[in-house]
Amino acid sequence: MACDPKYKALRGMPDLLPETLEKMNWLEDRSRKIFRVFGYEEIRTPMLEETEVFTRSIGEDTDIVEKEMYTLLDRGGKSISLRPEGTASIIRAYIEHGWANLQDVVKLFYVGPMFRGERPQKGRLRQFHQIGAEMIGGKDPVVDAELISNLNELLSELGVKGFTILINSLGCQKDRKVYKEKLASYLKEKISSFCPDCVRRADKNILRVLDCKNENCKKAVKDAPIMLDSLCDDCSARYTALKNILKDLKIPFSEKKDLVRGLDYYTGIVFEVTHPSLGAQDAIAAGGRYDDLCKEMSGPEAGATGYAVGVERLLLCLDEKDIPKKNKGILIVPVGDDLKLDAFYLAGQFRKERIPCETDLTGRSFKGQMRKANKENRKYIVILGEEEKKNGKMLLKNMTDGAQETLSFDEVVKKVREELS
Ligand SMILES: [Zn+2]
Ligand SMILES: [Zn+2]
Repeated sequence: MACDPKYKALRGMPDLLPETLEKMNWLEDRSRKIFRVFGYEEIRTPMLEETEVFTRSIGEDTDIVEKEMYTLLDRGGKSISLRPEGTASIIRAYIEHGWANLQDVVKLFYVGPMFRGERPQKGRLRQFHQIGAEMIGGKDPVVDAELISNLNELLSELGVKGFTILINSLGCQKDRKVYKEKLASYLKEKISSFCPDCVRRADKNILRVLDCKNENCKKAVKDAPIMLDSLCDDCSARYTALKNILKDLKIPFSEKKDLVRGLDYYTGIVFEVTHPSLGAQDAIAAGGRYDDLCKEMSGPEAGATGYAVGVERLLLCLDEKDIPKKNKGILIVPVGDDLKLDAFYLAGQFRKERIPCETDLTGRSFKGQMRKANKENRKYIVILGEEEKKNGKMLLKNMTDGAQETLSFDEVVKKVREELS
């Protein structure tokens, strides 16, 4: 019964209730299967890191670092932050464990909560969950193609329909410098119409203006020069190579020439996946190349690319009926209080066979227990009466079609095992 409790979960950080978790677990299990097929291994980095891990990588003048990070001082006075995304920590781990020495493309995936102090709204929470993948140690466009193909398989496996993969290239540092100058001179006249954030951005990192959601800013950049026109030969060749491989793989994609990402570390090929059930601004997944990040974080030179899928957003795109509901297992209902303990011990035997099974623990009447089984949508109940007990049998009732049979324990196990365990 809902009451007005003294303590409530923080805004934007809701409890994950069993019904949601069942879906999330299904989604994670499915994803793990796809990652395995592509040769990824799972990694779990801690929720908290030194703040610098994020500021150095995501960028000082990004929205995330400027206004969304949960930062605190630990008891020793060191600044630490809850992770707002997964990549920075993974690169920190890649460097710390010396994986560059493997001279290989390291493929890692992760699943877990991230934290950003945003204004909570549909599909946007302060504690949200991501499933992500990183490929570190390779620069060939075939690496990008494999990553995007992995994401495409993952979304298909999860039954997401009607999604669009959008790609672009942000070029290397050199290209970016050229482009920033072009953009700055184009926008010079328009700065007065920018939102206050962008007035500041125009000075610090003009690229940020491109993904501002303010209507005036959007208008100002509408016909701005595009990044692709500033790519060097090498970046341009990589971008073309990727497009050709994706075509060969029959992975549908569209080019989005104004696609920038909200984090500073991206270089070269970037992408986003959108879905009609989310607003125009929101992507279910996003990622791209970040070839300079490892070095930026005082590690070796290592080409890298990755993506993250927003789990809560993904759930908004899925059809409820495509997510299988877990069967609740058997309820053993004794006829009369004298058999209560027999039912309880029988449940133990089923559990030894790893068949999910429960008995009523509250003292409900026989009728009450039947009602409970119905309400919980249990497919099977086992009724244990004196007669059955005497013959070493029990009554198995299929609640869906009402069919019932008197069977021995072994026969029941044989009958339900495949469906329930
Ligand atoms: Zn370049
Ligand atoms: Zn703006």
